[in-house]
Amino acid sequence: MSDKNKRILVTRSSMPPLEEYVEEIRTLWDSHWLTNMGEKHNLLTQELKKYLDVPGLELLVNGHSALEFTIQSFDFAPGSEVITTPFTFASTVHAIVRNNLTPVFCDIDPDTYCLDADKVEALITEKTVAILPVHVYGHICDVYKLERIAKDHGLKLIYDAAHTFGEKVDGRGIGSFGDASIFSFHATKVFNSIEGGCVCFSDEALGREVYYLKDFGIVDEENVARVGANGKMNEFAAAMGLCNLRHLPEEMEKRRRVMGRYREALKDVKGIKLSPDYENEKVKGMEVAFNYAYFPVVFGEDFGADRDSVFKRLSEHNISARKYFYPLINEMECYADRGWDAGKDTPVAVDTAHRVLTLPIFADLAIEDVDRICEIVRSF
Ligand SMILES: *Cc1c(COP(=O)(O)O)cnc(C)c1O
Repeated sequence: MSDKNKRILVTRSSMPPLEEYVEEIRTLWDSHWLTNMGEKHNLLTQELKKYLDVPGLELLVNGHSALEFTIQSFDFAPGSEVITTPFTFASTVHAIVRNNLTPVFCDIDPDTYCLDADKVEALITEKTVAILPVHVYGHICDVYKLERIAKDHGLKLIYDAAHTFGEKVDGRGIGSFGDASIFSFHATKVFNSIEGGCVCFSDEALGREVYYLKDFGIVDEENVARVGANGKMNEFAAAMGLCNLRHLPEEMEKRRRVMGRYREALKDVKGIKLSPDYENEKVKGMEVAFNYAYFPVVFGEDFGADRDSVFKRLSEHNISARKYFYPLINEMECYADRGWDAGKDTPVAVDTAHRVLTLPIFADLAIEDVDRICEIVRSF
């Protein structure tokens, strides 16, 4: 039910019925095995492999550590360059920098907001070792073109797939593209294990490296062969994942309905750009099974108001939208000393970051609330 005075957040975490979770964790009181690759951890690994349709999968404590450990597992020389996008969550680029590598920013595609595959090759130098694209908002990067570029230049291809849980491209799990793809199961994501994440891969040796790294580099009882850290998912998080996974199809269907309503109400508004219509058309030649994770709206010159005005008016009505992604990574304070020039290097990303707003979307968002939000947007 809709309540006009109630605050509407941009997202709301999915939770299973309490009784179901209690039932799921009951066995932990018998085993007293709470973490370190226990029964729930291993079961969730198997279930996710099936659901995501990937050959290999390693669970981690969160999406960021999945990315950081995956990059570390390649053992790139310090100072090597990784081509990536500034239009992403801070985690993506922090994971590169924290591995002592140098991010090189590629501009984004104006339709999908993902890294523009046509602009990658011009950025490759003799120091480049990898490409790290992000499937932002569940939109899909040009995976075929990127695969060809990576192959032609002998580069690793690592996807930040945090926004694309459960998606398929031409019938194939999105996590099976590239050398590795990471997902996040953070509370705010389509699928959550409270905190959690994973890396998907086809090379078993890569999976084994990440396994060692998430457990302090311990190879066996008397042999610590890597400088690892602690990235293990605990049993309570894995149990939450097992429960939430069961409810995902119905959650997805509810999200689909919410997004359909938004699209219907906003598609004809002048100056508004919506996501590609994955449900009804091929996008860049790809057939995509979408996950309805985010609803970004880009306000153009001819909309009649700027993004910040829309944000403000929604706030006044107790509705939280999110300036996602703003600021860009190459404009963040922590990187101010790097001498990066976002306006020159990534003008499309700069423009988009100033125009985009993601509107509230979650499974239990009432249709009346969607209508109310759209009414406010249309009032300009
Ligand atoms: C959520 C997210 C991450 C980090 O995942 P955590 O599970 O929160 O550590 C990384 N990249 C992107 C694009 C994300 O949205």
